Amino acid sequence: MVRAPKSLSMMFVTAAFAYGVAFWAMVTLDADSAWSRFEALSASEAYGRAVGHGDQAVALSLQDGKDGEAVQKKQLALAEAHRQGGVPERAIELYHTVLDSPLGSQMTEPERAAIENKIAGLSLSIGRPIEAATLIAAFVDASGDAVARRELIDKDSHEAVLLGYADAALNDFTDALPPVVERELIQGDEAARLRIADALTSLGGYYARTAEGDYAAAGLLATAYRTRTDILGADHADTVHTALLLAPVYERIDRITDAEQIYLTAFHAQERAKGSNNPELSLYIRLLSEVYRRQGRITEAEALNVHMRTLFRDAFGARRYAPNQARDRTTDINRPVSRDFPLPSAYVPPDLVRAELYSIPLSKPPAVEEMSIRAALIDQQTSMPKLLADLIGECRSEQERLSLRSGYRSFSTQSGLYARSRNGQVAAPGTSEHQLGLAVDIDVNGRFMRSTDRAFQCFEAQAWRHGFILTYPRGNRYLESADSFEPWHWRFVGPQTALLYRETGPLGFPQEFLAALPCYEERALAGLFVRAGEQDVCLANVLGDDQLADAPATEEQEG
Ligand SMILES: [Zn+2]
Repeated sequence: MVRAPKSLSMMFVTAAFAYGVAFWAMVTLDADSAWSRFEALSASEAYGRAVGHGDQAVALSLQDGKDGEAVQKKQLALAEAHRQGGVPERAIELYHTVLDSPLGSQMTEPERAAIENKIAGLSLSIGRPIEAATLIAAFVDASGDAVARRELIDKDSHEAVLLGYADAALNDFTDALPPVVERELIQGDEAARLRIADALTSLGGYYARTAEGDYAAAGLLATAYRTRTDILGADHADTVHTALLLAPVYERIDRITDAEQIYLTAFHAQERAKGSNNPELSLYIRLLSEVYRRQGRITEAEALNVHMRTLFRDAFGARRYAPNQARDRTTDINRPVSRDFPLPSAYVPPDLVRAELYSIPLSKPPAVEEMSIRAALIDQQTSMPKLLADLIGECRSEQERLSLRSGYRSFSTQSGLYARSRNGQVAAPGTSEHQLGLAVDIDVNGRFMRSTDRAFQCFEAQAWRHGFILTYPRGNRYLESADSFEPWHWRFVGPQTALLYRETGPLGFPQEFLAALPCYEERALAGLFVRAGEQDVCLANVLGDDQLADAPATEEQEG
């Protein structure tokens, strides 16, 4: 002390001032001190105050040319603080910086996914649902079989965790996007917008399968539909694909007029693309007719049915109603199999062949039991494996590799599968079409086919021509679980029966249709068809009264 202070209080003021200056200089100019301050405040959960110091520390380090792993770790901690109570936009930016840094590339897949999930949550919280959707859609895409068959997946596995992220975000997507989209909401160049539309279709299609997901699905699918329509046009297969996912969602949330509009647009687009006399239009006509029926517009519904039969008559003539060959009966090609129509445990099909011999791509080694299917010879040229190979060839693409995952399953194999399953998603032994050797489960890129795959849309449009029908359509009652829709499971019934099912079969009741097949064939031959709004007498013969009350079912748009 050089000279005596005038008073003690003056000395205190001077000291306090000096300390204040020193402290200010320290936290503003020294990265380490700023970081200590950040850490102290973060530790006491004062994130709002902490982030200023953290931002400063990181900025100072970067200024000094320090951008190694130590700084990347600080950025990660800082992102976390911003997420907890700082600026969400800044948190998103920092997380992206870290993911793109060497530190990010050293992370494991689960670590990266956990960060991406945080980015998605932040994006949703600040009204950027499209960004969030692209991240979450990637989780759904990477979750493999967890989407289709949760009971096969260990709940702690990476796949299950990814799907858990998607499920947890569902509520936040409800109302995040409008259910009908008039103007394009996605930004960027065309390629980027189409990529985002793909992601929204994938996520929307997944949510549409979940119990509470229809409102979230509507917004996501409507956004994708708008973009695909604007860029690709209404005729493009991708646009129609989104339309066929979106319209049933509209029906379920009582936007019937919007559903009608979508089906009409898809129908007219397909009419332009395929020609107005193509029986493939039947898919769209049936869906539209069902919407009219639900609205009580019986005359319009019936007019569509008549139009559809004209298409089939012009394409196939009267021979389409010819009863199945006697051979079909003896080989069980049209045999129904479900809980109501079980097979004996000793049933083994007589003509199993290795699918490998027909160049059908396989998911498992060729000698495995499930890699066999029936020959089911219809004539010299036509057999089930040959038709399946053709169908797969028609529907595979560069992006979507198709393969046979399961064909024939013996009673004992099915028993083992059933015993391992937990939530009723596996048919009980004796009630699976796989025991007939006439059902195939199809993989896309090594996991179960999904309704959001382009290949599924192709199967919906084409499979009947090759003799296959979808026998676990949306809302079916053949399995015990709430979600019994199996877009990957296709049943061979022969081209003639598949054609009749497409033309007159009761949507959503494929097994009952097979059980009552002689009735349908006879009536069709006599020119007797169920009129819109009237009871289906063939179906009434095989259904109980309680089931009949709901028929034709309203939830089977994808059947
Ligand atoms: Zn199956």
